[in-house]
Order: sequence, then structure tokens, then C-alpha cells
Amino acid sequence: KTVCVTGASGYIASWLVKQLLLRGYTVKASVRDPNDPRKTRHLLGLEGAEGRLKLFKADLLEQGSFDSVVEGCVGVFHTASPFYHDVLDPQAELLDPAVKGTLNVLSSCAKTPSVKRVVLTSSIAAVAYNGKPQTPDVVVDENWFSDPDYCKGLKLWYVVSKTMAEDSAWKFSKEKGIDMVGINPAMVIGPLLQPILNTSAAAILNLIKGAETFPNATFGWVNVKDVATAHIQAFEIPSASGRYCLVERVVHYSEIVNILHQLYPSLQLPQTCAGDKPYVPTYQVSKEKAKSLGIEFIPLDVSLKETVESLKEKGFVHLSSL
Ligand code: NDP
Repeated sequence: KTVCVTGASGYIASWLVKQLLLRGYTVKASVRDPNDPRKTRHLLGLEGAEGRLKLFKADLLEQGSFDSVVEGCVGVFHTASPFYHDVLDPQAELLDPAVKGTLNVLSSCAKTPSVKRVVLTSSIAAVAYNGKPQTPDVVVDENWFSDPDYCKGLKLWYVVSKTMAEDSAWKFSKEKGIDMVGINPAMVIGPLLQPILNTSAAAILNLIKGAETFPNATFGWVNVKDVATAHIQAFEIPSASGRYCLVERVVHYSEIVNILHQLYPSLQLPQTCAGDKPYVPTYQVSKEKAKSLGIEFIPLDVSLKETVESLKEKGFVHLSSL
């Protein structure tokens, strides 16, 4: 069976490609620059890559760019989307690739009869940001949808990009009769396969690399291996539908620092929280739908340990105390 993965060189996508190859799939993988070894070498070295991994050049903003990637595929995993926060031009850097790019990929799917299901990598960013109160007793679930206007007001441009992209994707897939399933992970951590540091792993690197303060923020966290598995299960399980939130635990950064301290007692970690406001409260995210995909969730402390070990192994951090 042949499937396609867009943005294949990225953090989540690399794990997805790895697991797809291990399950015997032939994978058509899109990257922007197939000649850049930093984007492709780790993929070409995966078990099963020889013979069953094919690289394609495609850009989200180039109309029709994905036609040849999607051709002949039964499943399409659309993961490509920019994820970073330091943007100068949110429209050009984040919103256009996210929204127009998603519609570009879905347009290729709509005209390709072999495609039976599309799995869209959305985010908890498209779920939980709507201004509703979030306190420890509140359970966020798949019925929540972020409010782009609320997020624009807060200049949360990445959140806006993911919310608008998912919303457009549902509208388009309904109109064209595409069977689409959405995956909505929180902050993804765990081992890196790729050599380039991604935004969510960087959040942990900052803490262990001598930051003076930790952010006053509360996020859900989930292991990259669970995220990749959920994508495949969402494709393989015929009854899978709608969206799936993926969160092992929602914790404040202070708790991340506590766990890191327990794992690495001699590590220098930030002692104080940025700003003088009270800690942003935690909330819950329902695991019920994710469990129906067979996801058991790797515990947060294990995910943190795997992240630190991987950052060390990849040379992003050199700490004698680790
Ligand atoms: P990475 O930064 O590692 O990967 C992003 C990928 O998007 C890269 O492969 C990049 O391609 C591709 N991309 C960006 N812009 C374009 C473009 N114009 N045309 C083609 N490809 C493009 O991030 P992650 O693996 O973390 O993110 C992957 C997906 O998961 C994204 O959709 C993100 O929103 C989502 N997500 C991530 C979470 C996290 O915590 N990491 C949480 C929830 C959702 P190239 O290699 O060519 O640069």
C-alpha cells in the first residue's frame, strides 16, 4: 500500500515515516529541498527506506505541487505547516502556508481517486484557544474549537494559522466528499530523528541550557511516538472520524522544571517564573477519543527523559551533569 506524507523531514513527520515503513507501507514523502541532506539523510537511513521511500519536491505555496506526490496513494498524511513564533509577516510566513497550503494538498487529493482517507496534522492550538475559562476542573475535548478572532487579538499567529487551516480543511473536505480525520496534538516532545532543532523540542532545550526563568505558561504535552502512531491508527481504523486530541498531561512549566530536577538532580535549571503574575492554571484534556485509537500515552517523565537524552546525543547540549 502506498501513502504520502507532506513535510516529511519534520520532527513529527520523520517518526510517522519511520513507523509507516516499519508497518510495510511504501511512502511518497514530500520535502521542499530533496537535495539538502539535512532534510533527507535521516529519512533515507530508516529501516525499509531503500526501495519503499520515495522523495518528492513540493512546496505548500505552489499550486498543484502535490499532484504527483498524492498520485496513486490510498492515504495522505498532511503534516507540513510552519511552526515557529518569531515571525515578521504572519500572513506570508504562517497563515498562507498553513491555510492555502492545506487547501492546495486537499485539492490534489480531491482529484485523485486512489485517495481513500486524508489524515490532517492539526493541533491543540486549533482546539483550546477561545477565551473560555480554563481551570483544573475544566475538561477540554474535541468539541472545542479555537476562535481565530480571539487569537488574532492576542497576536498568537501560529495558533491562528492552525485554527484557520483546520477550519478550511473541514469545509473543503465536506464540500468535495473527502474522508478526513484530524489529529490535534499538544506540545510534542520525545526523541528527535531529524538533525534540525524543532520548536517544541527547543522549549525543553531552553530550560536545560541555562535559562534564567521558566515561562508562565501551561501546556499539554505528548510523546512524538504516540503522535505518529495516532496518525497511522486514524488512517487504518475504518470507524475513525472527526478529530482526536492528543495530550498525556497538562502542566505548568514549573512542573516540567520539577520533573527535570527529579530526573537530573545536578542539572542547573531556572528557579523562578517569568513575570510576577500568578501561575497560569492547568486544565484537563479528554483522552477518551485518543484511547479509541489504541493510544495508551507514554508518561510525561519518560517523554522528558527521552527528549533530554536525544538533545544530548544530537549535540544540542553539552552538559557534564547530564
Ligand atoms: P517541523 O518544523 O519539524 O516540521 C515542519 C514541516 O513543515 C517541515 O517539514 C517543513 O518542510 C514543512 N513546511 C513548512 N513550510 C512549508 C512550505 N511552505 N512548503 C512545504 N513544506 C513546508 O515541525 P513539527 O514536526 O513540530 O510540526 C509538524 C506539524 O505538526 C505541523 O503541522 C505543526 O503545526 C503540527 N504540530 C506540531 C506540534 C509540536 O509540538 N511539534 C504540536 C501540534 C501540532 P521543510 O523540511 O522543507 O522545511
